[in-house]
Amino acid sequence: MLKFLDLKAINDSYEPELSLAIKQVLDSGWYLLGKESKSFEQEYNNYIGTNNCIGVANGLDALRLILRSYIELGVMQEGDEIIVPANTYIATILAITDNRLVPILIEPDILTYNINPFLIEEKISKRTKGIMIVHLYGNNSMHPEIKRLIDHYDLKLIEDNAQSQGCIYMGKRTGSLGDAAGHSFYPGKNIGALGDGGAVTTNDKDLADAVRAISNYGSKIKYENIYQGLNSRIDEIQAAILKVKLQYLDRDNQNRRDIALKYCENIKNPDVILPFYKDGLLIKNDTSYNGHLFIIRHPKRDALQKFFSDNNIQTMIHYPIPPHKQQAYKEWNNLSFPITEQIHREVLSLPISPVMTLEEVEKVCKVLNCF
Ligand SMILES: *Cc1c(COP(=O)(O)O)cnc(C)c1O
Repeated sequence: MLKFLDLKAINDSYEPELSLAIKQVLDSGWYLLGKESKSFEQEYNNYIGTNNCIGVANGLDALRLILRSYIELGVMQEGDEIIVPANTYIATILAITDNRLVPILIEPDILTYNINPFLIEEKISKRTKGIMIVHLYGNNSMHPEIKRLIDHYDLKLIEDNAQSQGCIYMGKRTGSLGDAAGHSFYPGKNIGALGDGGAVTTNDKDLADAVRAISNYGSKIKYENIYQGLNSRIDEIQAAILKVKLQYLDRDNQNRRDIALKYCENIKNPDVILPFYKDGLLIKNDTSYNGHLFIIRHPKRDALQKFFSDNNIQTMIHYPIPPHKQQAYKEWNNLSFPITEQIHREVLSLPISPVMTLEEVEKVCKVLNCF
């Protein structure tokens, strides 16, 4: 079976450094809020190009903590609206509703699968306080129109950078483009922990102080609590692991782009819709894409997935049910987002990872071209 994502092979590629990093933490006797998380935060800050980084427990918490901090700082209040793409992983939306803010869903552009910037303005109201963009599937979603709206309506721009570590937009990393960003180090992300992890990056010192305090029981000084906080911190072990992997993130992303290029060159099935970014060849050097996922569309997606599986190739669907059709959001089930729904019906994610070989790509393409 050709796996969709071989996490074991990926992690083996960082040995022996990874095991050494783990052993060092084990031997240090210090497991939380120590020098590993501190130095990881500094290095990740440098990488993203921001002034403040706070390691937290996971990507969902990173986004929750940003919004919660804006509420504590009086920038937002319960009932305020946050513009967000309808086509995203549900965690983006959960972070908003968890804070009793109101997500305003916007249809994606069928070419990019990311939020359609030209559908945003008509949904801006007096209660709109921010736009949360998601660089979905590893593609930058920042756009001059979004910048114009943020400036014109004085909104906060929050990035969900869970899938887009390393992407560059106009010379800057995603995660540094707005007021704050949430990052995930879930094992399957382009930089993944051996368990959960996340981070908030921001240039806003007040926001950073609030996020750090709220993530640590609402406390800046031990046993003095200024907020009704959470416990959402990154472990020393995970931070040490991520420090090793961060050094290789750009190389890994380039390997992923090489795989994507090979797909574009070798897929010849006329019913397959390739990612927009290239009828081929720019992809190799296009750093606005980090190769997180390689998404194709096909009108008979489910049959195609079965055909792959019959041929020992594992594929995935990101995602089978859109947030507005989930039972968790019953109140939206009757809403209609036709482009979002079409994407959920037709997308299929082909295997892609920094350790996949070009021969494996050829095998996937051969099966796909026979379908
Ligand atoms: C993975 C992911 C998250 C959540 O991150 P976790 O670390 O799993 O909590 C949020 N948004 C998007 C778009 C994601 O892909």
